[in-house]
Amino acid sequence: MSDLIDIAIIGGGPAGLAAALYGARARAKTVVFEKALPGGQIAITDWIENYPGFGDGLAGSELGEKMHSHAARFGAEFRTFESVQSIREDRGGFVVTADGAEFGARSVILATGTTPRRLDVPGEAEFTGRGVSWCATCDGPLFRDKEVAVIGGGDAAVEEALFLTKFCSKVHLIHRRNELRATKCIQERCFVNGKIAMHWNRVPAQILGEDGRVTGLMLASTVGEPDELLPVAGVFIFVGLHPNSELAKGLCTLSPSGYIIIEHSGMTSLPGLYAAGDVTDYPLKQAVTAAAQGATAAFEADRWIGSAVCTL
Ligand code: NAP
Repeated sequence: MSDLIDIAIIGGGPAGLAAALYGARARAKTVVFEKALPGGQIAITDWIENYPGFGDGLAGSELGEKMHSHAARFGAEFRTFESVQSIREDRGGFVVTADGAEFGARSVILATGTTPRRLDVPGEAEFTGRGVSWCATCDGPLFRDKEVAVIGGGDAAVEEALFLTKFCSKVHLIHRRNELRATKCIQERCFVNGKIAMHWNRVPAQILGEDGRVTGLMLASTVGEPDELLPVAGVFIFVGLHPNSELAKGLCTLSPSGYIIIEHSGMTSLPGLYAAGDVTDYPLKQAVTAAAQGATAAFEADRWIGSAVCTL
């Protein structure tokens, strides 16, 4: 096993990167395990305009890179493209297994975020990557001058629909109710955008295609109206999130929907194991709240390791 880590952070999104900054500044040996590039969900978010201090907005990838270099400058170590398979308790600490190698850690912060939910309708799996997408920033430019559908009524769906209007000739926003869930100021922009067509009280019933590409979307009504066939080249799905809490199962308490339950300190039900950001049961899922939770968890983890006995 390598040198004992003080604070092992799993996940390199805003929560994990803020935790890394605070851990490193406390002069704790702080290591971030991140299976992809640092930044997490914000790295694939086109534009962020609600992070305090960045009033003009900035690209999500830029904010992720700034957070990463900030933590690295203070001495946080990064094990990028290393995927954690398991965490187990051992002698007052934890053993983290990543890509087959074992790392001893006095404390662990789970900042593993969420994964976009699937719709589970016919055609979704078949046409994934062939017109069905969960990332407008990644795939939007592929639909230049084409009509696409966006599913959902939350912040993600409406923001991504707005982003897609930069490329697409028309964006159909499909929502299962007759009012949006998204933040009001985002809704206002949506309603004045001439390229967005609202389809209220509708849910996708089937994604249709020909020759391996999406050609349309069959919509069912939630209020008893006839089905509607929408000819579109792309379907972007933003119907909520699924917590990436598999590593926590069996270690600490999860909510019925799988989010990790934490105290104000960020501690889970297992002493020494903390969680921060979107994977927790904290209701507001924002870059700023994730960063705040990461800072709190690292501060508290550093205090905890000062008092706990670990014989790893
Ligand atoms: P969300 O807020 O949970 O919204 C999911 C949307 O999908 C809801 O409108 C929901 O309808 C709809 N939906 C759920 N299941 C569906 C189904 N099976 N078929 C059709 N529609 C379905 O998810 P989100 O937009 O991904 O956002 C997740 C979190 O991240 C939120 O806390 C959000 O505030 C945050 N976020 C923030 C920003 C920002 O601050 N700029 C950007 C993106 C995300 P109902 O409304 O009827 O439930």
